[in-house]
Amino acid sequence: MTRQRELGRGERVVPGLWRLRLPLPWPGVPHCNAWAIAAGSGIVLVDTGMHLPDSIAQLERALDQVNLRVEHVRLLVCTHAHSDHWGQAAPIRERAGCEFWMHPNHEHAVRTAEDHDLALARRIEVARQSGVPEEALRRYADRARAMPSGIASVIEPDRDLVPDVSLETDLGTWRVIETPGHAPSHVCLFQRERRMLISGDHVLGRISLYYDYGWSPDPVGEFLSSLDAVDRLDARLALSGHGRPFVDVHGHIEGNRKLVRERLDRVDAALASGRKTAVQIAPHVYDEPLTEYNAGWLLQETLCYLRHLELLGQVEHEPDRGAEVWALSER
Ligand SMILES: [Zn+2]
Ligand SMILES: [Zn+2]
Repeated sequence: MTRQRELGRGERVVPGLWRLRLPLPWPGVPHCNAWAIAAGSGIVLVDTGMHLPDSIAQLERALDQVNLRVEHVRLLVCTHAHSDHWGQAAPIRERAGCEFWMHPNHEHAVRTAEDHDLALARRIEVARQSGVPEEALRRYADRARAMPSGIASVIEPDRDLVPDVSLETDLGTWRVIETPGHAPSHVCLFQRERRMLISGDHVLGRISLYYDYGWSPDPVGEFLSSLDAVDRLDARLALSGHGRPFVDVHGHIEGNRKLVRERLDRVDAALASGRKTAVQIAPHVYDEPLTEYNAGWLLQETLCYLRHLELLGQVEHEPDRGAEVWALSER
């Protein structure tokens, strides 16, 4: 694909807080956001962008547009351990000489970043269980081996980013809210007096659901609980991991709940007409056909709905020649 990549861009959101828009190589997701918050003589940087050959230059470009430099970073925190939010943690920490804080449940990322073959083997196994044919698995594996991990190198946080930790900035104190679901390591940051929420990928301006599959018992249930936790904060401005800041935070939370409910209902309806594999269920759940390019994401999402319904006692599965076949439970 010959698409012109975006360039890093910086803009002030409110005095003392800047949005750094950093380019991504992914179709349909052209950029991610990092956030700089004034803190004394420097800044707290929230999230890093993905690691690519020119990614530090893109970050420098975005910072330069708002008269900041990497050396101003006094503390680096990450909302979660996905490559677009965590990938450059190592070079930023080294350049700035700062501490790096992240939630301790980051095994999902560390293990897959340290062992590319293990990560691929897990994805292939998920696809095989979902009922993807062997020939398509081979094509996927060839393509996936060539994809960059987006992680410069794996570093452990200097401190766990958990609820009893807070961030001190010129805009006041930011509390840590644990919000697993999108990723086990996900947290949001909340500034109570200003009712500002750094929402990462938990609540996005354009509703888009994604769950890490296989690292926690019930990502969908965890995500719904995390939506409740954030809704109780009554935030009035969300600064999300992708896209522009938005104000109707409660409306977006409701939108996420509604879409999850709709997809669970669609899984249920798909099974009402007979036993199916995840590959057979997916076309009933999403408004786009399953392709080699979206299958990884959509099958993982479908399996998360199935696990959620299984824990509720509504569906069950049995193995059938390597693939799991799902059916409604006898009620
Ligand atoms: Zn993410
Ligand atoms: Zn993201």
